[in-house]
Amino acid sequence: MEDASRGGSKRCQVVGCSFDLTAYGRRYYSKKRLCPEHLKAEAVQLCDTEGLFRFCQQCGKLERLEAFAGTRRSCRLGLHKRRLNHAACAARQQQQQRGRPHRSSSSGSSASCSGCNASADGDAARRQR
Ligand SMILES: [Zn+2]
Ligand SMILES: [Zn+2]
Repeated sequence: MEDASRGGSKRCQVVGCSFDLTAYGRRYYSKKRLCPEHLKAEAVQLCDTEGLFRFCQQCGKLERLEAFAGTRRSCRLGLHKRRLNHAACAARQQQQQRGRPHRSSSSGSSASCSGCNASADGDAARRQR
Protein backbone atom coordinates (compact mmCIF):
# COMPACT_ATOMS: atom_id res chain seq x y z
CA MET A 1 0.00 0.00 0.00
CA GLU A 2 1.50 3.31 -1.05
CA ASP A 3 1.76 6.36 1.10
CA ALA A 4 -0.19 8.90 -0.92
CA SER A 5 0.95 11.88 1.13
CA ARG A 6 4.64 11.27 0.50
CA GLY A 7 5.40 8.77 -2.23
CA GLY A 8 2.45 9.61 -4.44
CA SER A 9 3.73 13.03 -5.44
CA LYS A 10 4.82 12.07 -8.94
CA ARG A 11 3.31 15.24 -10.24
CA CYS A 12 4.85 18.37 -11.69
CA GLN A 13 6.17 20.46 -8.81
CA VAL A 14 5.13 23.75 -10.40
CA VAL A 15 2.41 25.71 -8.63
CA GLY A 16 -0.99 25.17 -10.17
CA CYS A 17 0.18 22.29 -12.36
CA SER A 18 -1.27 18.88 -11.75
CA PHE A 19 0.43 17.07 -14.60
CA ASP A 20 0.60 13.41 -13.65
CA LEU A 21 4.12 12.27 -14.46
CA THR A 22 3.45 8.62 -13.70
CA ALA A 23 0.75 8.62 -16.36
CA TYR A 24 3.20 10.17 -18.78
CA GLY A 25 5.41 7.16 -18.19
CA ARG A 26 8.79 8.70 -18.77
CA ARG A 27 11.44 8.40 -16.09
CA TYR A 28 13.11 11.62 -17.10
CA TYR A 29 10.15 13.78 -16.18
CA SER A 30 9.35 11.91 -13.02
CA LYS A 31 12.95 12.31 -11.89
CA LYS A 32 13.02 16.07 -12.43
CA ARG A 33 9.44 16.30 -11.26
CA LEU A 34 8.63 18.61 -14.15
CA CYS A 35 6.17 18.16 -16.95
CA PRO A 36 7.43 18.69 -20.53
CA GLU A 37 5.78 22.07 -20.69
CA HIS A 38 7.41 23.43 -17.53
CA LEU A 39 10.72 21.85 -18.42
CA LYS A 40 10.84 24.36 -21.27
CA ALA A 41 9.18 27.24 -19.43
CA GLU A 42 11.15 30.44 -18.97
CA ALA A 43 10.13 30.75 -15.35
CA VAL A 44 8.24 28.48 -12.99
CA GLN A 45 7.10 28.79 -9.42
CA LEU A 46 7.52 25.73 -7.24
CA CYS A 47 5.08 24.48 -4.65
CA ASP A 48 7.56 24.15 -1.81
CA THR A 49 10.10 26.91 -2.60
CA GLU A 50 9.70 30.66 -2.99
CA GLY A 51 11.00 32.54 -6.01
CA LEU A 52 11.11 31.77 -9.69
CA PHE A 53 13.03 28.91 -11.21
CA ARG A 54 14.06 27.70 -14.63
CA PHE A 55 15.29 24.32 -15.70
CA CYS A 56 19.01 24.54 -16.56
CA GLN A 57 19.87 22.34 -19.53
CA GLN A 58 23.55 22.60 -18.72
CA CYS A 59 23.25 21.39 -15.13
CA GLY A 60 20.15 19.26 -15.66
CA LYS A 61 18.31 20.73 -12.69
CA LEU A 62 16.13 23.61 -11.59
CA GLU A 63 17.98 26.78 -10.76
CA ARG A 64 16.90 30.21 -9.61
CA LEU A 65 16.06 32.72 -12.31
CA GLU A 66 18.84 35.01 -11.06
CA ALA A 67 21.38 32.40 -12.19
CA PHE A 68 20.41 32.91 -15.83
CA ALA A 69 21.27 35.70 -18.24
CA GLY A 70 18.29 36.78 -20.32
CA THR A 71 16.21 33.92 -21.68
CA ARG A 72 19.03 31.41 -21.93
CA ARG A 73 18.37 27.82 -20.96
CA SER A 74 21.75 27.45 -19.33
CA CYS A 75 22.79 29.28 -16.18
CA ARG A 76 25.80 31.59 -16.16
CA LEU A 77 27.88 29.07 -14.27
CA GLY A 78 26.93 26.35 -16.73
CA LEU A 79 27.86 28.54 -19.69
CA HIS A 80 31.13 29.43 -17.99
CA LYS A 81 31.91 25.75 -17.47
CA ARG A 82 31.05 25.00 -21.06
CA ARG A 83 33.33 27.80 -22.22
CA LEU A 84 36.16 26.40 -20.12
CA ASN A 85 35.58 22.94 -21.55
CA HIS A 86 35.54 24.36 -25.04
CA ALA A 87 38.78 26.26 -24.40
CA ALA A 88 40.45 23.12 -23.10
CA CYS A 89 39.13 21.18 -26.07
CA ALA A 90 40.39 23.82 -28.52
CA ALA A 91 43.81 23.83 -26.88
CA ARG A 92 43.94 20.05 -27.16
CA GLN A 93 43.01 20.22 -30.84
CA GLN A 94 45.71 22.81 -31.47
CA GLN A 95 48.28 20.56 -29.84
CA GLN A 96 47.15 17.67 -32.02
CA GLN A 97 47.40 19.83 -35.13
CA ARG A 98 50.89 20.92 -34.17
CA GLY A 99 51.92 17.32 -33.68
CA ARG A 100 50.71 16.21 -37.09
CA PRO A 101 52.59 17.07 -40.27
CA HIS A 102 50.90 19.54 -42.59
CA ARG A 103 49.02 17.91 -45.42
CA SER A 104 48.58 19.95 -48.58
CA SER A 105 46.58 17.18 -50.29
CA SER A 106 43.33 18.28 -48.67
CA SER A 107 40.44 19.51 -50.80
CA GLY A 108 41.20 23.17 -50.12
CA SER A 109 44.77 23.02 -51.44
CA SER A 110 44.19 25.49 -54.26
CA ALA A 111 42.94 28.15 -51.87
CA SER A 112 45.33 27.55 -48.96
CA CYS A 113 48.50 26.81 -50.93
CA SER A 114 48.79 29.43 -53.64
CA GLY A 115 52.55 28.98 -53.77
CA CYS A 116 52.20 25.35 -55.01
CA ASN A 117 49.72 26.43 -57.68
CA ALA A 118 52.05 29.15 -58.86
CA SER A 119 54.95 26.72 -59.21
CA ALA A 120 52.69 24.14 -60.89
CA ASP A 121 51.52 26.75 -63.35
CA GLY A 122 55.09 27.70 -63.95
CA ASP A 123 56.00 24.03 -64.66
CA ALA A 124 53.06 23.72 -67.02
CA ALA A 125 54.08 26.91 -68.77
CA ARG A 126 57.65 25.63 -69.13
CA ARG A 127 56.42 22.32 -70.57
CA GLN A 128 54.28 24.15 -73.11
CA ARG A 129 57.19 26.20 -74.26
ZN1 LIG B 1 3.96 21.37 -15.00
ZN1 LIG C 1 23.04 25.48 -14.39
